[in-house]
Amino acid sequence: MTKILISGASIAGPTAAYWLRRHGFEVTVVEQAPALRAGGSAVDFRGEQLEILRKMGLVAAIEARSTRMGDVTIVDADGRFQARVPSAVMSGELEIPRGELSRILFEHTRNTTEYVFGDRITALTEHAGGVDVTFAKGAPRTFDLVIGADGAHSGVRSLAFGPERDFTTHLGHYAAYYTVPNHLGLDHEGRMYAEPGIGAMVTSSIDRDRMGVLLVFAAEPLCYDRRDTEQHKRILTDRFRAAGWELPTLLEGLARTDTLFFDALSQVRLDKWSKGRVALVGDAAWSAGAGGGGTGLAMAGAYVLAGELAENPGHDQAFAAYERIIRPSAKAGQNQARQTGGFFAPATARAIRGRGRVYRVLNTKPLNGLLTWLVNRTANTIDLPDYTRAA
Ligand SMILES: Cc1cc2nc3c(=O)[nH]c(=O)nc-3n(C[C@H](O)[C@H](O)[C@H](O)COP(=O)(O)OP(=O)(O)OC[C@H]3O[C@@H](n4cnc5c(N)ncnc54)[C@H](O)[C@@H]3O)c2cc1C
Repeated sequence: MTKILISGASIAGPTAAYWLRRHGFEVTVVEQAPALRAGGSAVDFRGEQLEILRKMGLVAAIEARSTRMGDVTIVDADGRFQARVPSAVMSGELEIPRGELSRILFEHTRNTTEYVFGDRITALTEHAGGVDVTFAKGAPRTFDLVIGADGAHSGVRSLAFGPERDFTTHLGHYAAYYTVPNHLGLDHEGRMYAEPGIGAMVTSSIDRDRMGVLLVFAAEPLCYDRRDTEQHKRILTDRFRAAGWELPTLLEGLARTDTLFFDALSQVRLDKWSKGRVALVGDAAWSAGAGGGGTGLAMAGAYVLAGELAENPGHDQAFAAYERIIRPSAKAGQNQARQTGGFFAPATARAIRGRGRVYRVLNTKPLNGLLTWLVNRTANTIDLPDYTRAA
């Protein structure tokens, strides 16, 4: 039986494991975190992206934990209404906290897949018969193929393709996500506030006692340690210290949180997503940054990669076919995500007023259809092939 090693147990990794098992491959997933990682903002599915959930029989499980988020209101420094951003824009058709989705995918695969937590690949040596893999902790093993599903800072990509800086483009903003007590009493709704170059959004849905906080700020690439959460908190506090609205209270919550997600809005671009017996999928291959429909596409990509491996006689043809099918959607997601930073943190006071005006106009009845088309068009670039014959 073909043995496949996947690096990363978040979204793309468990999805690839599910479909590879369905096609009869033997699968091992190695995840560097000691346990499944919780946290992160909500992720949404819309348009054709929902098809991957139907194919996996997951719609009901995800609906049961969905946020059912309503609209987000843009407010001024005094909390006064400026404009409404409809839930179709912010939350798609089905939205679920990232950690919940990851847990559902893990539960869906844990009985058929070997999961190894708290370890990572340290070297890959390819030869005619497979790939020899060494790990930070476990004993060396040999696999037929290796899949990097280990996110925007992929370890597999660094080992097989080269250093991260060669493939990453900074989009000019940073984003952070954490939760605080819901002192605004929000109920399946959100508020958005901006000053030139910085923006904040708060939302509350499933857990009415808590609010999710998204902070976005404009900055050239910063020098910091990706694992040092206290340093991330200092960077954020410096940027938002002088800001108005609810920011002083949200920064108090930042000081206390222990589940902070902090990263640059950046994009991963590679000319080719595979090299020999190693392939990349999800953010490791094409991260668009927030707002690019990355979660649905990571799952769709994992489905296509597994399906093509089942249908093609060799991994070279399979990797090429997978890339041909997914690349247009990855590109569309990257084009869309370029707007995200400027949407949450417009550069000037004029741009902030312009954002309010655009949403006041788009929310009028005649333009509602246009808005729906705009927010779904990237998700609708996906047309998933049917691999049931192979499965
Ligand atoms: C804890 C967490 C919080 C997140 N929060 C947000 C958020 O708030 N907003 C947002 O836009 N996106 C967030 N993301 C990213 C989002 O999940 C992805 O953009 C998207 O879902 C695609 O998923 P992926 O599986 O390709 O990559 P990711 O979800 O990034 O998952 C990669 C996985 O690989 C693991 N990993 C990394 N390096 C190695 C290695 N060397 N060896 C083994 N395993 C490794 C990671 O621990 C992680 O579990 C978050 C990701 C994580 C892991």
